[in-house]
Amino acid sequence: MSNSVLPGDKIAIIEEYEAGSNACDDGHVVRATVIGESEVDKKNRLVNVKNNKPISIPEKDDIVIGTVEAVMGSMIAVMIKYINSRPVKSQVECICATRNIRKKNVALVKDLVKLKIIGHLNGAIHATIQDPELGVLFTKCRKCGMGVKPLRDIIKCVECGWTDDRKLSNDFLKTDFLKVRE
Ligand SMILES: [Zn+2]
Repeated sequence: MSNSVLPGDKIAIIEEYEAGSNACDDGHVVRATVIGESEVDKKNRLVNVKNNKPISIPEKDDIVIGTVEAVMGSMIAVMIKYINSRPVKSQVECICATRNIRKKNVALVKDLVKLKIIGHLNGAIHATIQDPELGVLFTKCRKCGMGVKPLRDIIKCVECGWTDDRKLSNDFLKTDFLKVRE
């Protein structure tokens, strides 16, 4: 038997059960201290709250898709929207080194990019953009903000004709990810 509970929710009276993990008693009732599922442990007369999985964190070799939040000298920071094609709501960022990519503009802020996670280091999630399938999935003209189309290994604005470069994914413009951009 389990129920969804919020912090402060009454989950038992102390005559029945004692506070187990993620629970406390106020002298009368046992209350949840976290968001989760309350579970009664009849054998030990405890009521526990099982923590809901907090947020989705990508692991090594996961493919993530996200929007570029910042472009720094030799890396980009990306807000992850999908992990292995599954949408994630949590606000998780990864960083991706771009110094090995021979492009003037690997990706711009707000571009949609596909990356592969290489691991966690010093509290940050690191990703690579190097494989052919990885790179920019959706971008706009830097000059006028209109759509672009690939032209050999560069991109060209359909509106003003401005040419630019990006580290494009093989999937560039093939997938309809416009909806995640709103
Ligand atoms: Zn343009």
